[in-house]
Amino acid sequence: MKVKLVRFTADPEILCGAAALTSTKSGSPSEIFEKMDLEKARQIIKRVTGYGHASVIEHASFTFSIEGVSRAMTHQLVRHRIASYTQQSQRYVTYDTFEKYVTPPSIEENSEAKRIFNSALKKISETYHKLLEMGIPKEDARFILPNAAKTNIIVTMNARELRHFFNLRCCRRSQWEIRQVAIEMLKQAKNAAPSLFENAGPSCVELGYCPEGKMKPPECNVEEIKKQFRNL
Ligand SMILES: Cc1cc2nc3c(=O)[nH]c(=O)nc-3n(C[C@H](O)[C@H](O)[C@H](O)COP(=O)(O)OP(=O)(O)OC[C@H]3O[C@@H](n4cnc5c(N)ncnc54)[C@H](O)[C@@H]3O)c2cc1C
Repeated sequence: MKVKLVRFTADPEILCGAAALTSTKSGSPSEIFEKMDLEKARQIIKRVTGYGHASVIEHASFTFSIEGVSRAMTHQLVRHRIASYTQQSQRYVTYDTFEKYVTPPSIEENSEAKRIFNSALKKISETYHKLLEMGIPKEDARFILPNAAKTNIIVTMNARELRHFFNLRCCRRSQWEIRQVAIEMLKQAKNAAPSLFENAGPSCVELGYCPEGKMKPPECNVEEIKKQFRNL
């Protein structure tokens, strides 16, 4: 798996800080933007988002390349609707070797489970290629492919949607693969624009308690998780 922040809005913190100030200043947004500096922008973002006025951070967008993940992962990712996606097509790209499948750690660590898993994938690969040889188009042969099939996807989200995505997907209730992707995205986004992602992470980091009720994983310690995400 590889996650890379490939592009983001230029001067994201200055832009969002200037946008926030536009609502209370008589000057034009372009003048406010020209006069804004990073320190001031960060103070404004902290104050305004603290009031719950999160729309100002929608002006900054972040684009990530997510490579070598399973279709099981991307199916969950694309449920997040305030985003743009482009995904590698199974109509054009042929699936052929074991390198094109993701093996979950629970299977990787269990030799018997791994043997059964690999044997099923081998059978799937053989069937897929047999169908192609018979002249079945890739778009139909792909119906045999599993959730484990590797894929690449590019996703763009604004900072507000990213924070919401992190609330849900950095949480330990979330599935391991999308959680790994989300934590890596958070690390890189926070590095690019610290004030937009201050205190970002699973819901418990922002709220100070776990909102999952009875579904809270028993191993979760909110204080430890808060520390983990603050030091990310
Ligand atoms: C641990 C976990 C388990 C899950 N299990 C399942 C499952 O078993 N089955 C399943 O189907 N899904 C499941 N999901 C997916 C989940 O139900 C959501 O579809 C997904 O997390 C996207 O979240 P969202 O709708 O809040 O956010 P986004 O789509 O990212 O939208 C962001 C926010 O915008 C607003 N919004 C967006 N679209 C609308 C709209 N049409 N109307 C009103 N407001 C809108 C909402 O406030 C929303 O929270 C699971 C998710 C998690 C994290």
